[in-house]
Amino acid sequence: MNSTKTPLIGMTHSDLVELCYDAGVKPVHADHIVASVFRRYNSDLSSISTIPKTLHSYLAKHISMFEPTCSAEQLAADGTRKLVLQMPDGKAVETVLIEGAKRLTQCISTQVGCAVGCTFCLTATAGLTRNLSAAEMVAEVMAGQRISGQKVSNIVLMGMGEPLHNYQAVAQFLNIITDPKGMAFSPNRVTLSTSGMVPAIYRMLEDKFPCNLAISLNATTDEVRDRIIPINRKYPIAALIQAVREYIQQRGSKRVLIEYVMLAGINDSLEDAHRLSALLEGMHCTINLLPFNPYQGASFKRPDDATVSAFQAVLVEAKLIAIIRKSKGRDISAACGQLITEIKKKR
Ligand code: SAH
Ligand code: SF4
Repeated sequence: MNSTKTPLIGMTHSDLVELCYDAGVKPVHADHIVASVFRRYNSDLSSISTIPKTLHSYLAKHISMFEPTCSAEQLAADGTRKLVLQMPDGKAVETVLIEGAKRLTQCISTQVGCAVGCTFCLTATAGLTRNLSAAEMVAEVMAGQRISGQKVSNIVLMGMGEPLHNYQAVAQFLNIITDPKGMAFSPNRVTLSTSGMVPAIYRMLEDKFPCNLAISLNATTDEVRDRIIPINRKYPIAALIQAVREYIQQRGSKRVLIEYVMLAGINDSLEDAHRLSALLEGMHCTINLLPFNPYQGASFKRPDDATVSAFQAVLVEAKLIAIIRKSKGRDISAACGQLITEIKKKR
């Protein structure tokens, strides 16, 4: 990527309308660019036949296109595909494509690394290297579709990074992928997961982010949550739950997703299940129980299946919807950040 030029795939429709004005052509040409690049994945701007010559020369002068290189790929027996994508500056992120019965979900990274420092998360180990730009996140989606040869139907911001620590770029990314004239993902099929940045959750509400919300709750007492998600010391459970309830009240219909990583002997007791039921009482949510995905050097263990089922039963008894998330791609390096770590070790 030429750093003096703006990457086109990081631009929203209204950015492109501005660009048309700057180039002295009619704003309708923004529609043509969006249709060609974001709908038909055309990466050769010079081949767009519906835009005038003046716009072509403007684009050639000011705008760039880039595609990350795929430096590693793993395909699991269940169809889960993991890609390592290298960005123009050489930094790499992971993206995962997960096949479901009627859907193809892509898990997107929002940062290279992460600064939150959750003690059960492999991505946390190396800390934060840098934020991804909106263009780089869009490039993940494009690469996912190009490499898998399939249309992605759902997007989850659950890869490397804390999306709300990269607020502006994530907002821009969401606007680009949900643009009805462009990639046209329904906001209902896009989910942003956060470890609990309370002020940013209120800001998401104000800014009307076009996506669903997922919260990585992962504990039922501040004592445990402080230890495993350091940000809890700043935004404790009560404040987080209040923000989520407010979010639901204002946003209405769609269920919030509550993620709960189960760590053997830490947060998987029946007392935890009862406390979780009380915390979420009457909340319009779905709980995803995620048995810990082990990796080399981890200081946690995955609970056995009976413990996970007993925990789920308590939640169901309390009239909550609780799903045990099957770990997809267990025969490949399934935990987030794992493939990159393996590659680095081999070097
Ligand atoms: N930073 C955001 C989104 C990325 S992490 C967040 O924390 O919500 C996506 C999910 O994976 C989170 O719910 C996180 O708690 C979970 N997770 C991280 N490491 C895990 C592991 N080793 N096993 C199971 N789930 C894990
Ligand atoms: Fe960051 Fe999420 Fe991993 Fe915590 S779980 S370190 S917030 S990526």
